[in-house]
Amino acid sequence: MEKPKPRSRSKSNSAPTTPRTSSATAARSRKRALTAYSLDERMEMFRRFEVQRPEPTGELEHVNVFTLLVAVVLSAQATDAGVNKATRALFQIADTPQKMLALGEEKVGEYIRTIGLWRNKAKNVILLSEALIRDHGGEVPGDRNALTKLPGVGRKTANVVLNMFFHQPTMAVDTHIFRIANRILLAPGKNVDEVEEALLKVVPEQYLLHAHHWLILHGRYVCKARKPECERCVIADICKAPEKTNDVPAPLVRWEETGLLPAK
Ligand code: SF4
Repeated sequence: MEKPKPRSRSKSNSAPTTPRTSSATAARSRKRALTAYSLDERMEMFRRFEVQRPEPTGELEHVNVFTLLVAVVLSAQATDAGVNKATRALFQIADTPQKMLALGEEKVGEYIRTIGLWRNKAKNVILLSEALIRDHGGEVPGDRNALTKLPGVGRKTANVVLNMFFHQPTMAVDTHIFRIANRILLAPGKNVDEVEEALLKVVPEQYLLHAHHWLILHGRYVCKARKPECERCVIADICKAPEKTNDVPAPLVRWEETGLLPAK
């Protein structure tokens, strides 16, 4: 995950300045903006994302909530495309915890061998299948506490499942969301927890359910890590990223209609 840049501190040879009082420092940090955007700007930003992708979806292939959970567990430090390649065959024969358990760790490992950390992930898939059968009657719980108790399931994984299947307005901060939140100053934070907390506050409520997917897809296809493609960006006029290279927003049409862009 991209790490936040350290703040630069200028050294001075001049006489020491008057130290700030702790209350002044506290006030400053309280005042440090949660976001660089007014509510109107945020409303407009997400309105455009919605026009572009009215029904955004994730790119991890799955056939039910169990396979969604497994796919998300497998996607840690792997690309969605790489996970999909491996899981297509796996999910054809093991789409329930019972079938996954019957398949066994070794066989699961054979299916997912192309994915990073596959040994550990195969083990977790079997352990979480066991836990689902033992503790939840073979069902995936729609509750964060219960989800994060499952082997291999962290907060981000739980957030994805809660959002995609249980339609809860969660914010699963991945590398794209973390980068965008900081780059464009939408919800700056030093770590994923800070960014998650800030986004939940600054994304207008009516857009919260889909914000996670809009930001991921925007980061994956337009506001890319190495070089943001600002000339293809529908929020180029609103964006406050110091490194943006264009002020003119791209035409606001549905993503599939642009003709210039990749499939998603
Ligand atoms: S204008 Fe550039 S930096 Fe800003 S959101 Fe768009 S792609 Fe990212």
